[in-house]
Amino acid sequence: MTSWNLIYITGNGHSGSTLLDMLIGSHSKCVTLGEIHQLTLKAKGVCACGAANYKECDFWRDVDYRLQSSGGPQLSELHVDSSQESEFRRSNHALLSVLQEKTNARWLVDSSKKLTRLKCLLSDPSINVLPIHIVRRPEGVVCSNMAKGRSFYHSLRSYYSGLWSRYKYLRQKPCLTVSYEELCSFPEQVMTRIMRHLGLDFELEQLDWSSHDHHNVNGNKRTRTSRQSAIRLDERWRSKLNPWQRLVVKLASLHFVIWLRLQYGMRP
Ligand SMILES: [Zn+2]
Repeated sequence: MTSWNLIYITGNGHSGSTLLDMLIGSHSKCVTLGEIHQLTLKAKGVCACGAANYKECDFWRDVDYRLQSSGGPQLSELHVDSSQESEFRRSNHALLSVLQEKTNARWLVDSSKKLTRLKCLLSDPSINVLPIHIVRRPEGVVCSNMAKGRSFYHSLRSYYSGLWSRYKYLRQKPCLTVSYEELCSFPEQVMTRIMRHLGLDFELEQLDWSSHDHHNVNGNKRTRTSRQSAIRLDERWRSKLNPWQRLVVKLASLHFVIWLRLQYGMRP
């Protein structure tokens, strides 16, 4: 029997998962949690409301209070990303129960992205998980990684190995695939499709995502803490990647598409 509805956003880093998280979480019946598996990690707990960590955020402090009031552990004692199945379930159930009671949301949104976490969540019959796979074209992801000091070839390899694992795992699961480029170019149409899948009507206010209160953690900090609801297609790669790099990406893409077709009969 399922007790909670959870949207799980997965995808390579720098693929627009934080933007998608904010857009869905701006619906009146959805609440975004962000990369919840990192909530209590000291160095990474910055909340979208601007609080430096969960202990300084009213929303998460109240979650902590409610956990303890119901006789449960403190928030800092939860191991929501534990590799032990019993601990994983105990911690996630405790957290989801409190969040459900506090927000009364139809859907909670977890944008942790990691495939290992998604596998554990999907194996839990208590949670109705809908995976959303966000895919951005390789040039954009590679370019963002290079801006962080990673090499071109390393970034390209890591893009395709992540993409391959996700397609392989999700190919027979009820999963929604969203293109970053389409989301940014046609946000209303893409969000309408997603919300319909969730059994909800799209609300125009969702596009003004920065005007809503959010307490999602981690993810793209610039997007989370932005006070402007910009939905801008980032195509800086067009001027940043040289012709050789663009050719290598094209060949790698072709190779990937053929392999995916041969192995699983799928099109990306
Ligand atoms: Zn907050």
